[in-house]
Amino acid sequence: MSSLDAFDLDAWLAALVATGQPPPIVQAGAAVLRRRARDVPAERLGTPGLQQLVEIMVDVMRAAPGVGLAAPQIGVPLRIFVAEDAAERLARVAPESLAARGRAPLPLLAFVNPTVTLARGEPAVFFEGCLSVRGYGALVPRATAVRVTAVDPSGAPLALELEGWPARIMQHEMDHLDGTLYVDRMLSRSLAGDAALGELSGLPVSDVIKTLVDP
Ligand code: ZN
Repeated sequence: MSSLDAFDLDAWLAALVATGQPPPIVQAGAAVLRRRARDVPAERLGTPGLQQLVEIMVDVMRAAPGVGLAAPQIGVPLRIFVAEDAAERLARVAPESLAARGRAPLPLLAFVNPTVTLARGEPAVFFEGCLSVRGYGALVPRATAVRVTAVDPSGAPLALELEGWPARIMQHEMDHLDGTLYVDRMLSRSLAGDAALGELSGLPVSDVIKTLVDP
């Protein structure tokens, strides 16, 4: 039995509280990012420990800052992710960029034991990054709409239909729960460092593909 199989949430929370620090965001190369995370047992729903974990995840996501965070990214191998794309943040992005990506405000949500069903049809291709793969981004094809079902941390059922950027966030975070990173799905020739990303992500995707992927 590996240490991931033996994961004890209460012991993890106690150890974290003792450090007085937020948990670091685990980077690619860690086994926890490559394993299928485990279902949260029904008896955990509605408990203070689960609520505390979700609050920690929200704090880490907002501080990063990011629009989503999955539990394995802080070393917790459980099927939980949080997501939020706040209106204040969108106000700093060019309107053309928001429109092209279908980026719309997403209220803070916490998903426990989620399932994500992808809409059929042509995928959308845009630059995407990950808090666990610092310093890079790449073009990633994703379904343009999803249906998400889950329970919230109290155990109440959630069901949402999302399109555009929120649908991309759902797919990215759900992948983390299955041990998949965007680098497994990217157009690998589009991989770009942060310094280049600022300019590349402002160009039409077809131009980036002509420049980097299929010159
Ligand atoms: Zn990620």
